Amino acid sequence: MSLTGQYDDTNIFAKIIAGDAPAIKLFDDEHAVAIMDIFPQSPGHCLVIPKEPARNLLDLSDGAAAQAISRVKALAKAVETGLDPDGIVVTQFNGAPAGQTVFHIHFHIIPRWDAIPLGRHGGGQADMEELNAQAEKIRAALG
Ligand code: 5GP
Repeated sequence: MSLTGQYDDTNIFAKIIAGDAPAIKLFDDEHAVAIMDIFPQSPGHCLVIPKEPARNLLDLSDGAAAQAISRVKALAKAVETGLDPDGIVVTQFNGAPAGQTVFHIHFHIIPRWDAIPLGRHGGGQADMEELNAQAEKIRAALG
């Protein structure tokens, strides 16, 4: 899979945006959807997925990039308020060699705690009850 190329709308995030695949949603608006990552690297790991069909940041329009970053910031603040982490990592991968596994643009928001080591990228599936409990706290903080 090359860094540039045709967008393939059969990817899982396209299905989640279309409502054709399930997800624990944090918000869903005109420009982006935010969901809990089901293979979290840390408790509360969540994703902002712009709705524009772009493979990665290099393909995303400037307008959609601007809309996305404001949502990334809003969600990071809600994660801070809702989960009270010691730190928050924001990442975004472009191309398989960079670590990208789903080829629809998305941003990771990964809360970090001093005592909790970072899990493996794409590691084990989370307990759904725990994910829902974390999502409730984040949604409450989003208002
Ligand atoms: P990437 O490696 O492309 O930057 O990140 C893709 C992310 O999507 C990974 O963190 C992975 O755990 C997450 N992911 C993959 N499939 C699903 C899914 O079906 N649902 C959710 N909520 N997250 C997924």
